[in-house]
Amino acid sequence: MVRADTPKAKLRATPVSVVETKIWKCPKCARRFKRKSGLSTHFKKHSVGKLPEDIAPSASKGKTLPKIEKKRKGCVREQMKKARQKGSSAKTRVRDIEMMKTGVKAYEDALKSGETSQEYEMRTGITKQKISGWRQSIKNKESK
Ligand SMILES: [Zn+2]
Repeated sequence: MVRADTPKAKLRATPVSVVETKIWKCPKCARRFKRKSGLSTHFKKHSVGKLPEDIAPSASKGKTLPKIEKKRKGCVREQMKKARQKGSSAKTRVRDIEMMKTGVKAYEDALKSGETSQEYEMRTGITKQKISGWRQSIKNKESK
């Protein structure tokens, strides 16, 4: 059986929205820059004073602004602190237990890799007592 190549087999480019990489536009000459600092340096050449404080990133025609994602990755201690602030008298929630487990796991991994509990405390601020408290909480929760 001979199979002829059909036009279907041709690769077609999928239209993808182009993300603007140079999001900083010079208000004077419309040149674009990747970094605000770059624009700032360039803008000085126009000798029309300082770059406006309220300048915002923009995209040129046909391009979209990149999504600016804020990193919301706090350390375990911060998460615990937040959880405590939400309701210290409330029953230990599953989410907290999961957090404790993560904390205990991280601590155990650190010990396995040769770190002492003191070093771990220095690095993370989490004490050995805290870990054993967490261990207890996990145990209590799971025995119920
Ligand atoms: Zn300019």
